[in-house]
Amino acid sequence: MKVGIVGAGMVGSAAGYAMALTGAASRIVFVDRDPALATAQAQDIAHAVPFASSTVVEAGDYPALAGAGVVILAAGVGQKPGESRLALLSRNAVVFEQVVGAVRAAAPEAILLVASNPVDIMTNVATRLSGLPAGRVIGSGTILDTARFRSLLAGHLGLSAHSVHGYVLGEHGDSEVLAWSTARVGAEPLPSVAAQLGAAITHEVRARIDEGVRGAAYRIIAGKGATNYGIGAGLARIVRAIARDEQAVLSLSIVTPEAAGVHDVALSLPRVVGAQGVTATLAPALDRAESDALAASAGMLRDTWQALGL
Ligand code: ADP
Repeated sequence: MKVGIVGAGMVGSAAGYAMALTGAASRIVFVDRDPALATAQAQDIAHAVPFASSTVVEAGDYPALAGAGVVILAAGVGQKPGESRLALLSRNAVVFEQVVGAVRAAAPEAILLVASNPVDIMTNVATRLSGLPAGRVIGSGTILDTARFRSLLAGHLGLSAHSVHGYVLGEHGDSEVLAWSTARVGAEPLPSVAAQLGAAITHEVRARIDEGVRGAAYRIIAGKGATNYGIGAGLARIVRAIARDEQAVLSLSIVTPEAAGVHDVALSLPRVVGAQGVTATLAPALDRAESDALAASAGMLRDTWQALGL
């Protein structure tokens, strides 16, 4: 499948690199308002291909996206000193006004995969601008937070993260909800496995993992100025699910008719994803505290979306 990437910065290039290494896409086309950057990223990644896959990697302008099955939206502007989050959001919404229209004209069949932050609100923006059904405008949402949760939990248990199942839901950001009550190892409930392995989930362990997931981006940005490899691999995972029509269950953000009593905001829940995009949502059986936290997260997203006034 041909995949477009609009925005060849840190996140867009990491997504392209991950897709080239894993062969998730047969052809990758970078587009950026800085064409020299798009060309340089395409060439650098193309030179990794002989070691890994047969993906064709190139750069172009919007018409080069014709025939793409997925277009990743990773374009955005950086925060100015002293700029409020809402002001930054407004400027990124303007970027999407240019980008989404141009992508729709060039690749009308493409599923849009939103990576620009704040990803949930930008998914609402892209859904509104594109006029596409919600299931065809997919935000990466908490896919990375879910990976961090599984990885930290697996580390505590001394097991492979592939065998640890659990989701982070709601906003990709401070109000996200770690769904502890639904976590499983293999097919077993987490508390029973943890007890069998002598690795109980104490209050301290839970608090440490919760902070480890919630604070990961802040720590990584403090050390290197951006986060890109984790989200790049997450985007490649979503593209693979679409390209291979997997019907995989991933925690992804789409505009949701109703979640925790809040209407029409984009937020992450476990979603079924394949060639048609997101076709179903699984309602997690959360405990009371998690349900309340999800309602608060959804309410915060609704307030931000309404404040944007689109
Ligand atoms: P991130 O860390 O989120 O990837 P970057 O600043 O590294 O952020 O990348 C964002 C990219 O988006 C930049 O390469 C920038 O040139 C690109 N970009 C910004 N505005 C537009 C636009 N209107 N059209 C296309 N690309 C854009």
